[in-house]
Amino acid sequence: MTADARCLIALRNISSAYGEQLALHDVSLRIDSDQLTGIVGPSGSGKTTLLRTLLGSVRPVAGRIERSKDVAMSYVPQLETVNWNFPITVFECVLMARRQQRVRPWPTRSEREDVMAVLRRLSIEELAGRHIRALSGGQQQRMFVARALLRKPDLLLLDEPTSGVDVNTRHDMLHMLNELNAEGLAVVLTTHDLNGIAAHLPNLVCLNRSVIASGSPAEVITPDVLERTFGARMEVLEHLGIPVVIDEAPVRWREVG
Ligand code: ADP
Ligand code: MG
Repeated sequence: MTADARCLIALRNISSAYGEQLALHDVSLRIDSDQLTGIVGPSGSGKTTLLRTLLGSVRPVAGRIERSKDVAMSYVPQLETVNWNFPITVFECVLMARRQQRVRPWPTRSEREDVMAVLRRLSIEELAGRHIRALSGGQQQRMFVARALLRKPDLLLLDEPTSGVDVNTRHDMLHMLNELNAEGLAVVLTTHDLNGIAAHLPNLVCLNRSVIASGSPAEVITPDVLERTFGARMEVLEHLGIPVVIDEAPVRWREVG
C-alpha cells in the first residue's frame, strides 16, 4: 500500500452460501484504494460470488465485512450476460447508469456532459450515437467501463472482463485498467486466464472457495499454488520476468503409421 492509500473494504473470515452449498469458505481479503488485483480460479471456485459479496448483493453466512465510509463501487458484468439486441445507443446505455431519481425521462445538460466526459475518457466519444449491437468486443467493454465510471466509483469490479475477446482487445483492456488504476481507481477483476491476464497484474488472489495464496504473479504463479487452485498439475517457466504457465495436456495422441 502506498502512503496515502486507504483500506476501502475488508472481508474477515467470510463464508457465503447458496442454500446448503458453500461457495466461499473462511475468506479474508482487503482491498486498498490504490490496488489493481486479479481474483484467479477455475470455473465454480467462487469468483463471481466474491465480487457479489464485496458489492453486498450476497449476504455472507459467517464472518464480517468492513467497508470504509462512503465507498462507492461499480460493477462491470460479464459480456456474455448482456442482451445486445436491446435497441439503444452507446450514449443511452451509459446514461442509464446515472444515479438520480428521475423527474423527467430525458437527461439534463450536466448529465449529457457527464456521459460525454466518460466516453471521452475512454476514447469512445465518437461512438456515442452508435447502436450497442454494432460495437466490437473491445468497444463493448469500454462502454461498460464508461457506464460504471459514470457513478464515480472508488472501486471498479469487473467479472471476467476478457473472456471471449481476442488478443488485441485483451491488451487494450489491460492497458485501460492500468491507466485508470494509475489515475487513482482501485480495480478488482476476476479471471481464469493465467498467461493472458493474471501474469500481467501487480497483485493476485488465488481462489478455490478459500484463498489459496495471494501476492505478486512471481509469488503465486507456482506449480504448487496452481495445483491447489485449479486441481491440475502445470509447469511454470519464465519469460522476460513474467511467469508463463504450461498446462500439461493429459492427452497423448496415438501415432498413426
Ligand atoms: P465462478 O465465478 O468462479 O465460476 P461462482 O461464484 O459463480 O464461481 O460459483 C461458485 C459456486 O456457487 C458454484 O458451485 C456455483 O454452482 C454456485 N452458485 C453460483 N451462483 C449460484 C446461485 N445463484 N444459486 C446456486 N448456486 C450458485
Ligand atoms: Mg463467474
